[in-house]
Amino acid sequence: MSLSLEEIIDLDDLRALMHFFYEAAGISVGVMDADHNWLVSIGWQEICTDFHRLNPESRKNCILSEDRIQEYLDSKEYLTYPCPNGLIEVAIPILLDDVPLGFFFLGQFLHHPPDHDYFRRQALAYNFDIDAYLQALEKVPVVSKQRIDYLMKFFVRFFDLLTRLGSENQQRHRVELEIQQAREQLETRVEERTLELNRALIEVGDLAAQLNESLKRVGELAETDTLTETYNRRKFDEIVIKEHRRAEQGEAPFSLIMFDIDHFKKVNDKFGHSTGDQVLKHLSRLIRGLVRQGDLLIRWGGEEFLILLPDTQLEEAGPFAERIRQEVEQEDFTEIGSLTISLGVAQFRKGDSTDALLRRVDNALYQAKQEGRNRVIVCSKL
Ligand code: GH3
Ligand code: MG
Ligand code: MG
Repeated sequence: MSLSLEEIIDLDDLRALMHFFYEAAGISVGVMDADHNWLVSIGWQEICTDFHRLNPESRKNCILSEDRIQEYLDSKEYLTYPCPNGLIEVAIPILLDDVPLGFFFLGQFLHHPPDHDYFRRQALAYNFDIDAYLQALEKVPVVSKQRIDYLMKFFVRFFDLLTRLGSENQQRHRVELEIQQAREQLETRVEERTLELNRALIEVGDLAAQLNESLKRVGELAETDTLTETYNRRKFDEIVIKEHRRAEQGEAPFSLIMFDIDHFKKVNDKFGHSTGDQVLKHLSRLIRGLVRQGDLLIRWGGEEFLILLPDTQLEEAGPFAERIRQEVEQEDFTEIGSLTISLGVAQFRKGDSTDALLRRVDNALYQAKQEGRNRVIVCSKL
């Protein structure tokens, strides 16, 4: 991308520099950009501003000089030439990477003391006031060709240095801007992504919570009897193994209570099967409210239930069974009136198998039925 002179050189700095140069050397200086605008012009001679440029004819010579400079712009060398109005001008192109950005101009001086006859003739030709014109001529500096050569060598290098530094500065500035923009874009994208990620994480978290909830529910369903919401045999099988192991290791023994509704067939016959179901639910609810935390109420099948009592011996299990019996007996089953149950109680003993224990508690229940129902039989044979 090409840069303009104004972009790479601070014009105020340049003007100040040129001003000091003019004050020190007494030679007019100017800087023109590639679009022919004078960016700096300092110390123009009266002979130019008040005479040559005012008369339309002599002004043409000034324009001619500027055109010549323009033509020379692409050259890398500097150009010294006498302007058609009799003064010496010097121009050097200001280049950056061989591209002309403008030119530097040193002019309106003479190499030798002025040829008064020549200028007098010129005053007559353009109808200038001769005395005033010659006075203006006296102010034109006389600078040797050698000094001008040195000055121009200085300025060629000076502008070369200036444009290179300026251009490097510009490029660095642009790169910094690009980096800054890229960084900002990156930050914005990172922020967006983080937001998306957080949203996704929240969703995943929600889904995981739902999944956990569902899994928990599935687990519960797998071990729950749907009608009575008591545990099923699967849960019993799982827990009894643990209790068995604990009891075998000498920890506190566990006991079982098995109970069965008395004459339940009659309930069904009299009130219908669905009322029978409501009674089963009612009874389950009642007994769930009686058992302790940690006790397991299991629907063993039909209208037969089992209660597993961890850390419980017969001395405790027997009276507890009796309490249940009484509570059931006293309960008002709104669906049908009153109801009784028969219960068997047995305690785990060392070397017992689960089947043997179940057989004992089942026998106890059977015995309770045999002995007239609505009673508790504790299998005390250990
Ligand atoms: P008893 O136990 O006192 O000897 O007499 P019973 O009439 O209760 O006899 P048994 O326990 O052998 O009969 C159980 C009856 O319970 C048979 C069946 O119709 C009924 N039953 C079993 N499961 C359900 C159930 O889920 N819903 C209903 N409504 N009835 C059931
Ligand atoms: Mg029964
Ligand atoms: Mg039964």
